[in-house]
Amino acid sequence: MDIDALKAFLSSRGFPEYRFRQVTKNYFSGRYQGFEQMTDLPAALRQHLSASFPLYSLKLSALEKSPQAIKARLVLSDGLAIETVLMDYGSWLSVCLSTQVGCSLGCRFCATGVMGFKRNLSVEEIVDQLLFWRCHLSENGSPQKISRVVFMGMGEPFLNWDNLVASLKIINSPSGCFIGQRKISVSTAGIVPRIYDFTRLNTQINLAISLHSLKNHVRTSLMPVNRQFPLPVLLDACFNYVEQTKRQLFFEYVLIRDVNDSPSDLSLLIDFLRSHRLFFLNLIPANPVLSKIVPSPPQTVNRFTRTLSRLGPNFTLRRSLGADISAACGQLATK
Ligand code: SF4
Repeated sequence: MDIDALKAFLSSRGFPEYRFRQVTKNYFSGRYQGFEQMTDLPAALRQHLSASFPLYSLKLSALEKSPQAIKARLVLSDGLAIETVLMDYGSWLSVCLSTQVGCSLGCRFCATGVMGFKRNLSVEEIVDQLLFWRCHLSENGSPQKISRVVFMGMGEPFLNWDNLVASLKIINSPSGCFIGQRKISVSTAGIVPRIYDFTRLNTQINLAISLHSLKNHVRTSLMPVNRQFPLPVLLDACFNYVEQTKRQLFFEYVLIRDVNDSPSDLSLLIDFLRSHRLFFLNLIPANPVLSKIVPSPPQTVNRFTRTLSRLGPNFTLRRSLGADISAACGQLATK
């Protein structure tokens, strides 16, 4: 819902300030499908609101379920569609949000990149994905709560900067979705000027960099954005981030057979991770997306994890949930 429009609507009709707080509290709770269900509001106001605003900016078009993930395809008011994923990690639920329809960056391992770029999502379209999942859980009588939010869905968040920052504020705000900053993560393909901007924001929100290779030519072949912001420039921004914020910086590394999984790749990775105590690696076995991308075999993944464990850099082998419904990393795309 467009909060500013709601505020203007209520004040232009002389409603007291507390009505705005009441409506927004209901909206962010994710317990209501429409204004008519908000029975704590006067009937006339409910009717006015229903006639003037859609409560949510997106509508469900399809849901696909796997044991640990649910993917929703949501249609926007202009008919375009996005995808968002709810992931169940057992002790917590996490939601993966999209920030753009499609993406202009064309990373080779990503289905969204193949779609091309359609448009940026508005603030409400970003926030409403989280509220969609809150509604979904409430409708299904689930006692579970969403405690983490990751901006790793369709699109490059840093290329929709203003709306990203505004939606982060709403998602974190006690009068909004009230998710703690440390429970929110934003992932970028490496838009360097925005990494500096993000550093200056000085929040507790986690930052992840899609790294995927420490060889400049290999990274360029995987991620065309590396031509504009080559590795040395990107890594300078990363060192600056950890020095300024004193916060851990996460690096995503998808293991792709015969591309970035050789012994020399592993040794470069270890040297790099050891160069700063706040660097943290998320190692991700590739998901089958496009025919050219072949996941590294299990023995190679084991070699990476064994060596990393033995030599000590901070890392985790990330569980990639939802690959069977094309809901895992790099698999989101709409036709
Ligand atoms: S990985 Fe991210 S930045 Fe790269 S094409 Fe996919 S959505 Fe865009």
